[in-house]
Amino acid sequence: MAPQREWFEKDYYKVLGVVSTATDKEITRAYRKLAKQYHPDANPGSEERFKEISAAYDVLGDADKRKEYDEVRKQGPIPGSFGGGFGTGTPGGGTFRMEDMGNLGDLFGGLFGNRGRTTTTRGPARGADMEAALHLSFSDAVHGVTTSVNVPEDVRCSNCRGTGAAPGTATHTCPRCGGTGTLNDDQGLFSLSTVCPDCVGRGTLFDTPCPVCQGSGTERKVRSVKVRIPSGVEDGQRIRVKGRGAPGQGMAPPGDLYVVVHVGKHPVFGRNGRNLTMTVPITFPEAALGTTITVPTLESKVTLKVPPGTASGTVLRVRGRGVPAGTGRNAGKPGDLLVKTEVIVPTELTDDQRAAVESLAAVTDEAPRAAVEG
Ligand SMILES: [Zn+2]
Ligand SMILES: [Zn+2]
Repeated sequence: MAPQREWFEKDYYKVLGVVSTATDKEITRAYRKLAKQYHPDANPGSEERFKEISAAYDVLGDADKRKEYDEVRKQGPIPGSFGGGFGTGTPGGGTFRMEDMGNLGDLFGGLFGNRGRTTTTRGPARGADMEAALHLSFSDAVHGVTTSVNVPEDVRCSNCRGTGAAPGTATHTCPRCGGTGTLNDDQGLFSLSTVCPDCVGRGTLFDTPCPVCQGSGTERKVRSVKVRIPSGVEDGQRIRVKGRGAPGQGMAPPGDLYVVVHVGKHPVFGRNGRNLTMTVPITFPEAALGTTITVPTLESKVTLKVPPGTASGTVLRVRGRGVPAGTGRNAGKPGDLLVKTEVIVPTELTDDQRAAVESLAAVTDEAPRAAVEG
């Protein structure tokens, strides 16, 4: 039996960020990009996300499984009978590889999600994942930083304790749902329950709305979440902070918070992965005869030999002076500083300079355009 419950609950297309009509190539490309971005070696704390991505690709990357998955999702919700069975069953039909999952617990975690631990089939919902933007300076992105993000969220109104009623005023049981907060629409095999529109799931109605929340039962608060940014994050990268999303219903676990990093520009340096880039102007005599130049790095200055005969656009590499290696689980190879030379052509010449360049022209016997002019 295929892990259908997991399949119904998880939108693998969404996990990989592709449309459901994506081609095999698009899926593979999206997977490779994400797998690289969220590989736990490069991005500590991203194991869960990485697993999710791998699980999604296990299915969508296999034509047969993808077809089966699409079928399952077309059929709609799986009735409650499934959940209790898996404890004694086996993942069966699945070809999930053990080495991908680490251990048996993880294997089940991968197949059934974290909810697999509970045996209730339609328990309270896990909290929603949330997203928050974080603006980082170039230097903080390179070195990594521990900072906090503000996450606005709706919390239970403290004035009315979430009832929506002004404190001290009367509340009544909702007649439409009988106080359950939900309406059941029994359609044989599927029993669909929807939130009661009269009491919006609260089960009670009130005469006087709470003046603080206007009867909604929630108020907007800003929550500060501490987040550790590893060294070398890139603009647009999403960092997962486990369990810091919206709270779950009742005992259900909270969702995750995704911090989307925006990296500021540096006046001198650019970034290319773990390498830093910069351009230095040199004169024609320096390019022709060679010279020694001094360039800044993120820490101190370094001197750099420009060999004789250096063309404009040549890239000189200063090893180990890019994004630092990082520490612990984030350790990787340090990046390099890539210094690109740009030979400057003077726009104005003094008489002496003109005379010198003319003498150079007189003794120049190269024909650099011979090939193109024929
Ligand atoms: Zn209130
Ligand atoms: Zn109701």
